[in-house]
Amino acid sequence: MQEFDLFVIGAGSGGVRCARIAAQNGARVAIAERRHWGGTCVNLGCVPKKLMVYAADYGREIADAPAYGWDVKPVAHDWRTLIEAKDREITRLNGIYVSMLRKAGISLFTGNARFVDANTIEIGPSLLAPDEPVIRVKAKRIVVAPGSTPVRLDIPGAEHAIVSDDAFHLAARPERVAIIGSGYIGVEFAGIFAGLGSKVDLVYRSDLPLRGFDQEVRSHLAELLPLHGIAVHPSRTPERIEKETDGYRLHLEGGDVIETDCVFMATGRRPNIDGLGLDRAGVRTKDGRIPVSAEEPATNVPNIYAIGDVTDTYNLTPTAIAEGHLLAERLYAPQGRDWSFGTTPKAVFFSSPVATVGLTEEEAAEQHALDIYTSSFTPMRQTLSGRKGKAFLKLVVDADSQIVLGAHMIGPDAPEIIQGLAIAVTTRLTKRDFDRTIGLHPTSAEEFVTMRTRTRHIPRHSDSKR
Ligand code: NDP
Repeated sequence: MQEFDLFVIGAGSGGVRCARIAAQNGARVAIAERRHWGGTCVNLGCVPKKLMVYAADYGREIADAPAYGWDVKPVAHDWRTLIEAKDREITRLNGIYVSMLRKAGISLFTGNARFVDANTIEIGPSLLAPDEPVIRVKAKRIVVAPGSTPVRLDIPGAEHAIVSDDAFHLAARPERVAIIGSGYIGVEFAGIFAGLGSKVDLVYRSDLPLRGFDQEVRSHLAELLPLHGIAVHPSRTPERIEKETDGYRLHLEGGDVIETDCVFMATGRRPNIDGLGLDRAGVRTKDGRIPVSAEEPATNVPNIYAIGDVTDTYNLTPTAIAEGHLLAERLYAPQGRDWSFGTTPKAVFFSSPVATVGLTEEEAAEQHALDIYTSSFTPMRQTLSGRKGKAFLKLVVDADSQIVLGAHMIGPDAPEIIQGLAIAVTTRLTKRDFDRTIGLHPTSAEEFVTMRTRTRHIPRHSDSKR
C-alpha cells in the first residue's frame, strides 16, 4: 500500500493550494479528484461565470456605442459560440492544474475518495474515471476539501429546474428564465441572462436581494434590477413547477404564476460530505458542515483537517486558497504568516457589480457609533448613452476613532475598486487618511476620497437599546 505524508481529498482551489505548498516544503503528497481538476471555481463557478458576465457586458457596450458615434448594425448573440469558447478555456485551465500538480511531484488519483479509517483512504471509480480499480492508500495527515453542490428546493416539480452546474452547458439560451433566489448566483445569472437578451424573472423570499450585504446597498440593487431588464418578485416563495408543452409554469405562494422556458434554482450550496465516510474516521459534522476556524482548520480528529466549502467558514475561493496555504505552511514550514479573513472582500458580478469589504452599517452599529458617508451619481460612461442607473458608494466610519470599518459600492468596476480599498480597511486606515488621498480624475473611485460631508451620524445600537 502506498503511503503519504499528506492526502488531499478534492482538487479545487483550496485543495490544490494546500497540496502544492506541502509538496514544495518536502512532504510526500497525494490528491484525489472525482470530477474536475480545479474544482468548482474553475469548472462550474467563478471562471466560466466571469466569462459569461463579459459576454453580457459586450451586448450593453454595443447597444451604447452609437451614442459615441459608432455605426452599429443590428447584432445577434450566438450562445453556442460562447459556450464552446468558454469550454476550450476551461479545458486549457484543467490541463494547467494537472501539469502544475505533477510538476510539484504530487501523486494524482482520479476517483471517489473515502475514509476507511483516520489514516486510510479508499479511492474508487467516479464519473471522471469509471473504470479505475479500487485502491487503498495510507496517509499521516488528511485534508478534506471536497467542495459543495447546488441545493434544489424540495417543491413539487423541482426536477424540472436547473441549477448553476447546468446553466453553464445549456444547449440553447432560454428566451425566458425564472430564477429563484437572490444570493450571489441568482443575481449574477439574472445579469448574465438579461444581458444576453433573455426575459428574466427574479423570485426571492426576502423583501430585498442579497441578504447579508449592507441594507442600503441592497435597496440600491433592488432599484437597479428592473433598469437592467429584470422583473423582480420580492417577498415571494415558490410553490411548485409544472411542465407544459411549451415551457414551465412556476407557481408562487399566493397564486401568481410565471410562465417561463427555464426555472433556475439559485438557492444555496451544500457541502459534499455524502459518501466520504467521515463517520469511519470519527470526524464530527454540524448542520452538514465540518466545523473549523479558517486560521486553524483542524477537525476533532488530530490528523484530519478541512478547508473550503465543506467547512462552516467563508466558503469563497480566495478564502479556501488562504486556508489551504496557511495549513500546509503550518504543518510543513511554519512562517508565521497571517491573513485577514475578517476583512475578506466580496463581490457579486451583476451587470452593475456589487462589492464590499469590512462591516455593513448594521453590523458596525452593534459595536460603534458611526459616521456614514454616501454618494450616488450617474457614471460618466452612461452620460452620452443615457443609460439609466446610478452608482452608489458608502463608507462606514467609527465615529470615535474615525477608522473606516467598511466600504461598499454598487456600480461599474466596483470589484476592482474595492479590492484596492480592502487594503485600507484591512490596515484600519482612518477617514482622514482617505481625505488626504488625492483623487484620480475622472474616475468613479475618486468619490471614495472626496466624500467630505457626512451623510448621517448613527448612535451605537447597544447605547440606544439601554
Ligand atoms: P446564497 O446563499 O448566496 O443565496 C441563496 C438564495 O436562495 C437566497 O436568496 C435565499 O434566500 C434563497 N433561498 C434559500 N433557501 C430558500 C427556500 N427554501 N425558499 C426560497 N428561497 C430560498 O447562495 P447561492 O446559491 O447564490 O451561492 C452559493 C454560494 O456560492 C454563495 O454563498 C457564495 O459562497 C458562493 N458564490 C460566490 C460568488 C462570488 O464570490 N461572486 C458567486 C457565486 C457563488 P434568503 O436570502 O431569504 O435566505
